[in-house]
Amino acid sequence: MKMKRLTAMEIVDGIKSGAISCEELISGIYERIERSELNCYITLNKEEALRKAREVDNNRDKDEEEYMHKKLLGVPIAIKDSISTKNIQTTCASKILEGYIPPYDATVIEALKREGAIIIGKTNMDEFCMGSSTETSYYGPTLNPHDRSRVPGGSSGGSAAAIAAGEAVLALGSDTGGSIRCPASFCGIVGLKPTYGLVSRYGLIAYANSLEQIGPMASNVRDAALLLEVISAKDERDSTQVKLSNNRATNYQYRYVEEGVKGLRIGVPREFIEGVSPEVESAVWNAIHRFEELGASYEEMSMKYLKYALAAYYIIAMSEASSNLARFDGLRYGLRHAQDADWHTTFSRIRGEGFGEEVKRRIILGTYALSVGYYGRYYLKALKVRTLIRREFDTALKRYDILALPTMPFVAFKLGERIKDPLSLYLADVNTVPMNLAGVPSISIPCAFYNGLPVGLQLVGEQFGEEKIINAAIAYEESSKP
Ligand code: GLN
Repeated sequence: MKMKRLTAMEIVDGIKSGAISCEELISGIYERIERSELNCYITLNKEEALRKAREVDNNRDKDEEEYMHKKLLGVPIAIKDSISTKNIQTTCASKILEGYIPPYDATVIEALKREGAIIIGKTNMDEFCMGSSTETSYYGPTLNPHDRSRVPGGSSGGSAAAIAAGEAVLALGSDTGGSIRCPASFCGIVGLKPTYGLVSRYGLIAYANSLEQIGPMASNVRDAALLLEVISAKDERDSTQVKLSNNRATNYQYRYVEEGVKGLRIGVPREFIEGVSPEVESAVWNAIHRFEELGASYEEMSMKYLKYALAAYYIIAMSEASSNLARFDGLRYGLRHAQDADWHTTFSRIRGEGFGEEVKRRIILGTYALSVGYYGRYYLKALKVRTLIRREFDTALKRYDILALPTMPFVAFKLGERIKDPLSLYLADVNTVPMNLAGVPSISIPCAFYNGLPVGLQLVGEQFGEEKIINAAIAYEESSKP
């Protein structure tokens, strides 16, 4: 069976009608993973996944009514290792969490299980989500399926590469400053960062909690919308989840409007295009012109505070990280040693050994930015910049329905090329962090190939305006079908 080409929706239909054997589908995925050299996964869930697959087949044969309504029945899904999964090791790609098996599921995982999805395993990522290349993982880098000498992007690199290589059909990632969109762009798949507050973060291991969201990754926009619909389930356990009124129901899948993008007003912020590589620039303009042909109109515009976004983001993200990561003390989770004479020695020894270099750098810088005397100069100032950026997005998105821009300033770079110079990696996030500061939704879709490497187009909407960017993305995707 050639499963690589099947979408999640086709799989669900095939399983329900009996045309697809779930067990064969899942074993096919594991065969591919076992042959693969990409290093997409840290932990596999093979036995349990195959058991579930057999259960799906049996219940289908018995024509179990309840099963027939499940939205993701039998769909193989990969989960980023920053999301807690009951009874499956969850490491956040760190040595400090090696061997940690959560006693509970994140809310999004409960939702996936309720809808019949099958968890294939936990995917590789940058340690504690800190990075844009999946090279800071304690478990080694993931390779880009389009060119193995290149990075898959990050931090959700394992999830993106798994989909691109047919080692999963759907995946979850988490995005603090681009971690879903960057690897989606580098691996040629679809990734969506939801509005802050749409998807429960309960069970997501925190890096910078005021910025991050769990989001869907898929080979096509409709599958991503279907997955978003499932994971945006309400949750009382996350107080930052926004309670939406009924007229804003999150059934994204069914809301595609047939008129496509006719009359859609697109803003193209100049600052997001200046400075990107020529091949990315021309790919993105081609895409924007395609929207025009489809009936949308566009206008170039300017967002003057964007140039401060990267600095503000890194101050806020590192400050939050320095506080969030204090809980890893070698006593409660993962890596453990015999107690030293005093607690301070044990704490330092475990953290010294358990955290990688990038994580330590960020804890130190974040602690500095929050310390007496510097708090006002750095952290507080960054928060003020954040407010200005948020307002700038609000204003722009009143004038335009969506914004269109490149996801990444360049195509996937070589492994090892940037990791020695952290600042050059931080700069790669210039087009993705502003949306996290503003809390607005943003989707990355493939729009071109350059020398065999994918280029991503980013579409940004107003808060809780997922529907509009999904519609525009579907219209674009439909128009590129042969
Ligand atoms: N590259 C950014 C960082 O390192 C974003 C990562 C993310 O979204 N988790 O902070």
